[in-house]
Amino acid sequence: MKKVIVVGGGPAGLMAAEVLSAAGVEVHLYDAMPSVGRKFLLAGKGGLNLTHAEPIDIFASRYGARRTQIEALLQGFDATQVRAWAKGLGVDTFVGSSGRVFPADMKAAPLLRAWLHRLRSAGVQFSMRHRWIGWADDGALKFSTPAGEVQAQADAVVLALGGGSWARLGSNGAWVPWLQARGVAVAPLLPANCGFDAQGGWSEHFAIRFAGQPFKSVAIEFTNSQGVGFRRKGEFVATVTGVEGSLIYAASNLLRDEIVGQGQATFRLDLLPDMTPEQVLAEVTHPRGSRSLSSHLKSRLHIDGIKAALLHERLSKEQINDPAALAAAIKALPITLVAARPLDEAISSAGGVLFEVMDAHLMLEQLPGVFCAGEMLDWEAPTGGYLLTACFASGHQAGAGVLAYLGGK
Ligand SMILES: Cc1cc2nc3c(=O)[nH]c(=O)nc-3n(C[C@H](O)[C@H](O)[C@H](O)COP(=O)(O)OP(=O)(O)OC[C@H]3O[C@@H](n4cnc5c(N)ncnc54)[C@H](O)[C@@H]3O)c2cc1C
Repeated sequence: MKKVIVVGGGPAGLMAAEVLSAAGVEVHLYDAMPSVGRKFLLAGKGGLNLTHAEPIDIFASRYGARRTQIEALLQGFDATQVRAWAKGLGVDTFVGSSGRVFPADMKAAPLLRAWLHRLRSAGVQFSMRHRWIGWADDGALKFSTPAGEVQAQADAVVLALGGGSWARLGSNGAWVPWLQARGVAVAPLLPANCGFDAQGGWSEHFAIRFAGQPFKSVAIEFTNSQGVGFRRKGEFVATVTGVEGSLIYAASNLLRDEIVGQGQATFRLDLLPDMTPEQVLAEVTHPRGSRSLSSHLKSRLHIDGIKAALLHERLSKEQINDPAALAAAIKALPITLVAARPLDEAISSAGGVLFEVMDAHLMLEQLPGVFCAGEMLDWEAPTGGYLLTACFASGHQAGAGVLAYLGGK
């Protein structure tokens, strides 16, 4: 019987282990943490958006520059198969109003429990608290464990070490230099689906009063220096130093790359996306009698709370008192961002092992018999279930690739 080592027990590594164990291969799965699937469980706190129900063409477009590579992986394991896989573990899924797919109970723990039970029954052996630290001279994998260093050999290896966000859950990106030292090209890990720091920060008053509060029913518009544009309605949250949340995450790759290239990125915030500029101007200039400007904005335009505070935060007294300037700011308030928040705080990582140094089965050209899967590969995607789906699909592909490799040995 052939023996395969999988390093990393996130969704990608577990999926590779599933494919391999189902084919009768002896699978040893090592993970640095005391238990597997910690980020998957954390994703469950947000409802566990497993995948998305939109047509495959639109789905594949979410992977941007890596569409071709991820589309090839999805041919082996797509959104429909993600749902069938969950169902096979006794967990029904449903399509939410936005097309996002969730487990019926919106939890990760029952799914992970059933999955681990199935993997153990199929013979997968789990070694926890084994942090892979590179290769020994004879090609064995070296692990640091509470009992000291141990080494292990196998006929093939799947590395599914995750990206570099939320290091306390296990993936810390420490593998990057070890693969680079072996001649494997790795794009630097960068924050994806991340928050940003606003230029000059917020005033103390704004930060204390409004950090954590949402901007609801707003839109943001951003065009980068190459003319690529983004406009979408949604909501986001003020933080102590800037902004984060779903609408910001959706634009975060463009904003991040613009900051890397230009030092800053300015988006325009539309506080009333359902009104035209003319309607807003008409309401702002509507006679207000003895009413204060604040109560006028609140009663005519429903602008109060964090939206009103932001206008005061970013506009001068003169602009606030100039109806044309105020109306223009309500429709397109410039917010300049100067830094992405650190990778550790991000939902996911961009960067990783380049597809160009792997074959179609995700085997490293420099290291025959070593396959890579999951977020450690060089792709990124917005939230919406695209992250987990690509992790499952790449784990599936790596597992199938190992089988083909072992079959040809
Ligand atoms: C707050 C949050 C919410 C999210 N919600 C969603 C969501 O709803 N939908 C979605 O699609 N995606 C979501 N994601 C993203 C998704 O969870 C990740 O993309 C996915 O878990 C990555 O899978 P992976 O297997 O590649 O890596 P990981 O899940 O990070 O697993 C990697 C594993 O490798 C282990 N490891 C790392 N280095 C070593 C080493 N040297 N030796 C041994 N073991 C090692 C780690 O301990 C870990 O167990 C969310 C992420 C976060 C942070």
